[in-house]
Amino acid sequence: MEILPKASLLDYNTFKIDVSCQQLIIIEEESEITSLFKAKVFEEKHFIIGGGSNLLFVNDYDANIIHIRTKGIETVEEDSDFVYLRVAAGMVWNDFVDYCLSNQYYGIENLIGIPGCVGSSAVQNVGAYGVEAKDLIYQVEGYNIRTKNDFVLYNADCEFSYRSSIFKTKLKNQCLIVNVVFRLSKKETYNLEYEALRSRLDESDLSLQYVSEMVLELRNSKLPDISEIGSAGSFFKNPIVSNQHLRQLLQLYPNLIHYDTDDGNKKLAAGQLIDLAGWKGVRDGDAGVYPLQALVLVNYGKATGKEILDLAKKIQQDILEKFNINLEPEVNIIQ
Ligand SMILES: Cc1cc2nc3c(=O)[nH]c(=O)nc-3n(C[C@H](O)[C@H](O)[C@H](O)COP(=O)(O)OP(=O)(O)OC[C@H]3O[C@@H](n4cnc5c(N)ncnc54)[C@H](O)[C@@H]3O)c2cc1C
Repeated sequence: MEILPKASLLDYNTFKIDVSCQQLIIIEEESEITSLFKAKVFEEKHFIIGGGSNLLFVNDYDANIIHIRTKGIETVEEDSDFVYLRVAAGMVWNDFVDYCLSNQYYGIENLIGIPGCVGSSAVQNVGAYGVEAKDLIYQVEGYNIRTKNDFVLYNADCEFSYRSSIFKTKLKNQCLIVNVVFRLSKKETYNLEYEALRSRLDESDLSLQYVSEMVLELRNSKLPDISEIGSAGSFFKNPIVSNQHLRQLLQLYPNLIHYDTDDGNKKLAAGQLIDLAGWKGVRDGDAGVYPLQALVLVNYGKATGKEILDLAKKIQQDILEKFNINLEPEVNIIQ
């Protein structure tokens, strides 16, 4: 375990916001977690981070940041159809994806290229190109910080939904995820329901390598390279509206993209709304709306968290006025 007092968080958030915390506690081994309980670290204000790729720090954080950096993949069970892998929460998501690809485990290839760690994939229910983490997660293991007990939650108990889970709702900030168990297919199978991906592929010649390369190509054509521009990916969630609301909007905007949701409503593309409202490429100092994808807010250099948040609020207000839609942030805003 490493404890860094008054540490800068610049290298621990992909938005590249230059803030500090009282103490940065870096956990490298699962066994170190018991020391945190003994030191009563969870009884004081704290925040757990993985790769910091879904966070916006608005101010210096006046408490402990606990950075989970545990590593490891263990095969729990396998049969001719599936393999069950227990993966440490601090493992970099893309290292896990690479492991699956090199072992010919199917199902995760559409999720290649998503920044961050394995633990957060369960918190956020990360998703891309028609696949979500919930499609692969078998169970989530960790500690309940309030009760100090360990827990195992099966997929059905995690209350996964679009970019959300029980860890963002009922159990928000109450759990430390230690491992996630995934179920991957050993049989060749691809999810090509997402049109933009399907249209790039020659379906007669599919392989894991080929599909994952096409996913990366698609991602790189739209998303900023976080080694060059600060960002946390999609800043807002795609909004869900009633059928009646959609009908009204279609009269004014006939080309509005919309998808059916499981509960009979319609999901719209937040990026399209922001684009239609004229925000794509807008820059206010070093805070901006990414010119290739209006859903992504970026830090071109020295933007503060407050400047990014102010821009986000202006966009929210404008979308409310123009479309009567309340855009909800996907990014965790840490005040
Ligand atoms: C360029 C870019 C592209 C992106 N593309 C996508 C995409 O295609 N799809 C998508 O879904 N997301 C995408 N994201 C968002 C982001 O990568 C995901 O949300 C990712 O899962 C965040 O992982 P992280 O480890 O960085 O989480 P963090 O930002 O560190 O934390 C996110 C949340 O998880 C909690 N958390 C983290 N670790 C633990 C733990 N061990 N126990 C309990 N709680 C924990 C934190 O407290 C916080 O609430 C993108 C981001 C960027 C910058």
